[in-house]
Amino acid sequence: MDKVIALNISFNNGNNAIYPTLLSDEHNLVLIDCGYVGFFPLIEKALRAQGYTAADLTHILITHHDHDHMGCLSDFKKSHPNIKVVASEIEEPYISGKKKSLRLEQAEKLQPKLNGIQRTNGIHFINILRSVEPVAVDITVRDGDILPWVGGVKVISTPGHMPGHISLFLEKFNVVVAGDAMVIEDGRLEVANPIYTLDSVTAKKSFDRILRLNPNKIICYHGGPMEINSD
Ligand SMILES: [Zn+2]
Repeated sequence: MDKVIALNISFNNGNNAIYPTLLSDEHNLVLIDCGYVGFFPLIEKALRAQGYTAADLTHILITHHDHDHMGCLSDFKKSHPNIKVVASEIEEPYISGKKKSLRLEQAEKLQPKLNGIQRTNGIHFINILRSVEPVAVDITVRDGDILPWVGGVKVISTPGHMPGHISLFLEKFNVVVAGDAMVIEDGRLEVANPIYTLDSVTAKKSFDRILRLNPNKIICYHGGPMEINSD
């Protein structure tokens, strides 16, 4: 049976959560985004709670190369080399380490302008970004590609937060997995924090593009699943 499961990975004493999505069908078990550096045991635990293990995963799709989305990808790949890593062709060089992380570039550029606690936090953030291990991408995708998972998964290019960001339209379920193209804040869908959005104008266009798909449900990595009432 085809299944779509938004995993609730809560941390920081339950004050924060991320929602990687799991797609399960007869032949595939796909994880969409996989958490921060060091989150491997947490994600494994969440998989086990659903009756799976990391060894069952056939693919991990990374929506974009931010540390909270690919931070423990190298742990998955080292322990289970058969897992195929999927990402957009634009994000591929950043995930595989051929190009420097855009987030790290942004943080390093900002750092000399910071003072006091912000400066300390900035150094901490940069160190976290530097600790993300690159991983080779096995399959690159582009806008409009259909992946043969859970009845058809359409790749929707949703740049802005990052240039190669992708979202996924699960056609059979009429669900969009939005990654960071949308977040839920105070119960509302919003564009991700502009501080972390490399191109806000493009991000807004991507946000609107997802809404135009008219999904029943949108799963945000930060915020989780939200039902959409079409009125
Ligand atoms: Zn994120």
